[in-house]
Amino acid sequence: MDMQCRLVTPTPIQYLGTGPGGQRIYIKRDDLLGFSFGGNKCRIAEVLLQDMKEKGCDFFVSYGSRKSNLNRVVGTLCKAENIPCLVITALEDGEKEDTFNSRILERMEIQSVFCDKSHVRETVEQTLADLREKRYHPYYIYGDSTGKGNESAVRKAYAAAYEEIRQWEKQNRIYFRQIFHASGTGMTQGGLVAGQKAASGQEQIIGISVARNAARGAAEVARFAGVPADQVCFLDEYLCGGYGKYEEEIERTIEHVMEQYGIPLDPTYTGKAFTGMMKWLETHGNEGDPVLFIHTGGTPLYFDFIEKNMI
Ligand SMILES: *Cc1c(COP(=O)(O)O)cnc(C)c1O
Repeated sequence: MDMQCRLVTPTPIQYLGTGPGGQRIYIKRDDLLGFSFGGNKCRIAEVLLQDMKEKGCDFFVSYGSRKSNLNRVVGTLCKAENIPCLVITALEDGEKEDTFNSRILERMEIQSVFCDKSHVRETVEQTLADLREKRYHPYYIYGDSTGKGNESAVRKAYAAAYEEIRQWEKQNRIYFRQIFHASGTGMTQGGLVAGQKAASGQEQIIGISVARNAARGAAEVARFAGVPADQVCFLDEYLCGGYGKYEEEIERTIEHVMEQYGIPLDPTYTGKAFTGMMKWLETHGNEGDPVLFIHTGGTPLYFDFIEKNMI
């Protein structure tokens, strides 16, 4: 199946409402990408699978937490294309709690290898060695066991999304002042920054950290983008204590956005980033400025959220 056709791009950009300083907030619905519950990982998984084929590999090895949207989408895509695949799942402090994402993988009978967060590198190396022994040519999602080597492939995904945004801006004669989104590994923001550089775009691209501190996060975005780290805006002040942690304010944002707009967010990624954006807009920008929030998906995590918050 052709890539554009499977993903259903470009995704819509819709007007949402006014921000705390009278900004005009728009949202790009990458949560509506047309494969396996959507999200930014659809675009990323497509380019990674392409990269795997170009490198002559025949076994896909993914990596993530039990909440991982990436593992879900990669697993589904490998199923659809009949490519053998395995997901390495890092458990923090031996956590065993499943999620809708991990349950979707189980349902598809995708093989999982569990490891402690402190033993990722050894587990990746061991897994790749075992597969080579079985005469496979494994492809590791982050390049080598230190996580480097696939940057130029990955950046294509969100460079293309940036181009969609640019087309929309030209057609609608609305030029965003800022583009906000949840930023984790830097694959999404790196692509956006690379796309913007290639097109000489002027918006501020603001990654709201969901896990890393500003120095590490910006360095990783810069690596994926192929630009110096001082050209990257990666904010860690809305982290709320770390990956997966959240407060009542984020819960209220999720409830509000669902009730007002019918759009699901989640506490780990999009709910945290949307809350951070609203705080940033309280003290920055001007009345009437158009700003864009990229909804990076994670729909199954909304269901984990409401299941956890049942009264
Ligand atoms: C993975 C993910 C992110 C972060 O994307 P990176 O490319 O890792 O920075 C943001 N939002 C959602 C819903 C995700 O699944």
